Order: sequence, then C-alpha cells, then structure tokens
Amino acid sequence: MFNCPRCGLVRYAREGQKTAKCLRCNYNIQITPEKIRILARVEDVKDAIDIVKAYKARLKS
Ligand SMILES: [Zn+2]
Repeated sequence: MFNCPRCGLVRYAREGQKTAKCLRCNYNIQITPEKIRILARVEDVKDAIDIVKAYKARLKS
C-alpha cells in the first residue's frame, strides 16, 4: 500500500511486485522503499481495498 510519488493516488501491490502503473497519472511506480512511501502492508487484496477506502475517507474529512 503506497502513494504514487507523482499524484498521490493510493495504490497497492502484491508482495514482491517491482513496479505498478498509476491508474490516474499513468506513472510507472518503482516499488522500492527509497522511492515510495509505504502506508501499510497487507496480506489480502480485500484488506487492501478496505484500507484504500478508509484512507480516502480520511483525506476527505
Ligand atoms: Zn499517479
């Protein structure tokens, strides 16, 4: 679980995944701790979706 370094969109990736394309700005995100800010680690994609929802709700308030 991490923010896109360019636009801040919250994305998630599987453990061991090296890159992820941002759905908003199309930026090819390098998934390394030096380049991105990891918000949370999740075991399950369902958990990831819940965390993204919670994170977005928190941004609104
Ligand atoms: Zn982006």
